[in-house]
Amino acid sequence: MIILRENALNLLKGNNTKEFEVLVALANLSRAENVGDQVCIHGIIEFSNYCSQNCLYCGIRTGNKKIKRYRMPLEEIKRTAVSASNNLGYKMLVLQSGEDLWYDTDKLAWLIKSIHKECRRCLLFLSIGDRDYNTYKVLYNAGARGVLFRFETSDVALYEKVRPNCSFSERINHLEFMREIGYLTASGPIIGLHGQTMESLVDDIYLMKKLKVTMATMGPFIPASGTPLEDNIGGTVSLALKMIALTRIIYPRARIPVTTALEKIGGNEARIAALNGGGNAFMLNLTPSQYREYYAIYDDKNKMESHLHSLQAVGELTKLIKACGRKVCRGWGTDFTLNKKNFASLCNMEG
Ligand code: SAH
Ligand code: SF4
Repeated sequence: MIILRENALNLLKGNNTKEFEVLVALANLSRAENVGDQVCIHGIIEFSNYCSQNCLYCGIRTGNKKIKRYRMPLEEIKRTAVSASNNLGYKMLVLQSGEDLWYDTDKLAWLIKSIHKECRRCLLFLSIGDRDYNTYKVLYNAGARGVLFRFETSDVALYEKVRPNCSFSERINHLEFMREIGYLTASGPIIGLHGQTMESLVDDIYLMKKLKVTMATMGPFIPASGTPLEDNIGGTVSLALKMIALTRIIYPRARIPVTTALEKIGGNEARIAALNGGGNAFMLNLTPSQYREYYAIYDDKNKMESHLHSLQAVGELTKLIKACGRKVCRGWGTDFTLNKKNFASLCNMEG
């Protein structure tokens, strides 16, 4: 299925219901043809909300003095991850934080090795922001196999405006060296930043494809209190759904998760629409409940039952996936082709 850039742009700009329905139906066909019916459930553990960066959109930016900061002790992060893998059956976990150098290379390497020792069949993704090549190399050797590292927007001027003191080309270089090291990459844009054009959103889709990201992760911008953008209008469910559908058509074999930000603004309805319009994965929050409210990268509109016990949350999601005529994937997922190689090297590692 081929779509021209100008058609993609028109679909993104348009608000014709019929066209939207056709787009979603085509994305669903492309999903079935290219990655099948399986839907993977991944987990995310938000282990620290300290951050030395000052991204204008983000509620845990260093300049936000209103939030309470926390750091999960290494042992507790380990326990949470091991339990998610061994008791709840997660095959892929994201360890996420602000840019928090308290967790230095040694601490992170210890953490990854200790988790890996107790649950070898679990892929660990890091989402810890900018660190140098050597750090990512050491963490790969410790057993981490993926990075969740969004480029946020391909509009260079906008990127450098909303991420002060950061350079877009450096962000892309980082993604490239991570891939070179061997990491699976998850990347993509925030959708709906003030000043973001539809043209740049289409560019974002082609950039995900060019970077050969394994997981095309994108979610709507949700204004966060205590940030310079707190009074901005956020991204919409319909724009996020169009982005998912177009990404599926333009980059058919990508794993496309239904992100927590989309769930937050659109609830179950958006989850189902995304699943039926190109999506094929979910990311469930496994952060221990006493920390969750403080990981406030955006305001908690709390449409989703984020207080649900992890087991209950998996149960509810499983029901939803099955009701959509899809299958829950308890392995790696058929679209994670790179995993076979990565997984093999993971199994062969010294304990
Ligand atoms: N510090 C790391 C990872 C944590 S932030 C990093 O920045 O890479 C993870 C993601 O949350 C960011 O990449 C951004 O895309 C998203 N995010 C931050 N603030 C947001 C907001 N207000 N609305 C929606 N997504 C947001
Ligand atoms: Fe820090 Fe990431 Fe938030 Fe930027 S987006 S302020 S790097 S946590």
